[in-house]
Amino acid sequence: MIIAILVFRSIIIVLSTCFSKAIGGDAVDRCPRTKIPFWVVILNHFGLFEGGRVEEVAMRRGVKGFWGRVFQDVDIQVIAERDSSRVYSVALVLHSLEFVGRMTVSVDHEYDANHGLRYEVTKSSKYVTDGDLKDLPFFQRINWLSTTIIFTPLIAFILGMFFVELKWQTLLLAIAQYILSGLGITAGYHRLWSHKSYKAGMFLQLVLACWGAAAFEGSIRWWCRNHRAHHRYVDTDKDPYAVHKGFWYAHLGWMVFKQEKGRSGRVDITDLNEDKLIMWQHKNYLPIAIGFAFVLPVTLATFCWNDFWGGLVYACMGRMFIVHQATFCVNSLAHTLGSQTYSTEHTSYDHVITALVTFGEGYHNYHHEFPHDYRNGIRWYQFDPTKWVIRFSNLFGMTSSLLVFPDNEIKKARVQVKQQQLDQQKKEIDWGRPVETLDEMTWQDVRRRTEEGEILVVIENIVYKVDEFLAHHPGGPQILKFWKGRDASLAFNGETYNHSKAARNLLMNFRLAKYVTPSSTNGRSAFVSGKRLTLFFSLPRLCRLVEKLE
Ligand SMILES: [Zn+2]
Ligand SMILES: [Zn+2]
Repeated sequence: MIIAILVFRSIIIVLSTCFSKAIGGDAVDRCPRTKIPFWVVILNHFGLFEGGRVEEVAMRRGVKGFWGRVFQDVDIQVIAERDSSRVYSVALVLHSLEFVGRMTVSVDHEYDANHGLRYEVTKSSKYVTDGDLKDLPFFQRINWLSTTIIFTPLIAFILGMFFVELKWQTLLLAIAQYILSGLGITAGYHRLWSHKSYKAGMFLQLVLACWGAAAFEGSIRWWCRNHRAHHRYVDTDKDPYAVHKGFWYAHLGWMVFKQEKGRSGRVDITDLNEDKLIMWQHKNYLPIAIGFAFVLPVTLATFCWNDFWGGLVYACMGRMFIVHQATFCVNSLAHTLGSQTYSTEHTSYDHVITALVTFGEGYHNYHHEFPHDYRNGIRWYQFDPTKWVIRFSNLFGMTSSLLVFPDNEIKKARVQVKQQQLDQQKKEIDWGRPVETLDEMTWQDVRRRTEEGEILVVIENIVYKVDEFLAHHPGGPQILKFWKGRDASLAFNGETYNHSKAARNLLMNFRLAKYVTPSSTNGRSAFVSGKRLTLFFSLPRLCRLVEKLE
């Protein structure tokens, strides 16, 4: 057998090298999917795939015995460098030889050689494009597995309520399960594993992993992968639950309907793949989820207070339905309802109602702006029980390295948003014609129009037309007439009366033109300025004159 493998390995290497040269680097894109027989995986260990390596092998069940294992199809995950096509060419050679029936390469990882990062490519659907999906009849577009998981608890809970009495012990058990599985998602899946916002001891990790699975929202690895894509590509087509496709799409539509393959943007989950607990939970997801979501509560309810049906309806189905909807609200409600306190660049909002139903995940605008902060609600009065649990566990050494964003940076974000809001409010107010859009007027223009009967006053090089304001001037019309055709800057700014802010705002409405000194005067201003006037009118003289005029 070993000799046969070695001989075959040599043949494959020769063929693949020739093929690789023939097809060049484009092979990466030409052969995106494969299922390779198990012996190729063995060859992998002999160094066949120099341009990459097989990362995971998921053998198909049902074929037994040595030869069955050797020749059956297996799903593999391949790490491949984009600039090396050898691993793909091997697959193409095998495919062309049709060595074993159905053969497609499943490239589930891409290696970004430039940045040293490894990305996982989603394999949520076998459908390649949106077009493929739209051509399908409606019922075939539904992802029946997800739909069943989402709607079974709802239907079972509603029907069960009519037939099964709720005992207080079962209610307490349901609440305990609700809190544990809810925290499994928020404190575990979300803040610990998706964002690494704190570190947790192994016991706490185990608790969060087991009860997080009981929420029936997928494995940590799957959930975090989607959530990281949500943050990285928020509000774009690569966001798995982008709210711009609709509230209900973000809530549950993205799970109910099949998605095009690879639609979700790529993210780095190297850390998750290297975490033994996460991979254990990923590989054993179903038994763990069933164990902690069903077996545990039903067993407790049955053997402790003889309530099998209550345990099933309330502690399993009811609890699961509520946790589902609470988590889904983070994707829908937290991207629809509330205020944007820290950023207006994405559709995330802060709202206490969302916080109440999501274990404190409702301060989502803060979270999107500072995702590595272990808190979502940063004020003491904001409802964030997940934060309280992480903080409380810290007192007993169960959590550590709680990441908090610097206060100064948080203040910056708040002030910037406030500034944006103020700028927007300013835009909605009539501030008069902007100075930069005003025409220019010379002294001759002002004098001519004044002689024609208009009341023009110059203040700080702006010409104001105040005819309409004459009767409303709090200081009386005479003083305005006195300054007609003159520069009243000094008088306006304190020499006669230091006008209020309201008066200055009002003045903006009477802007007529920019006053410019005409070049024809050769530097000799013919305009009677306030400064020049002071040569002839001292302040007391001016006041007396004004009184006389009045
Ligand atoms: Zn979000
Ligand atoms: Zn997040």
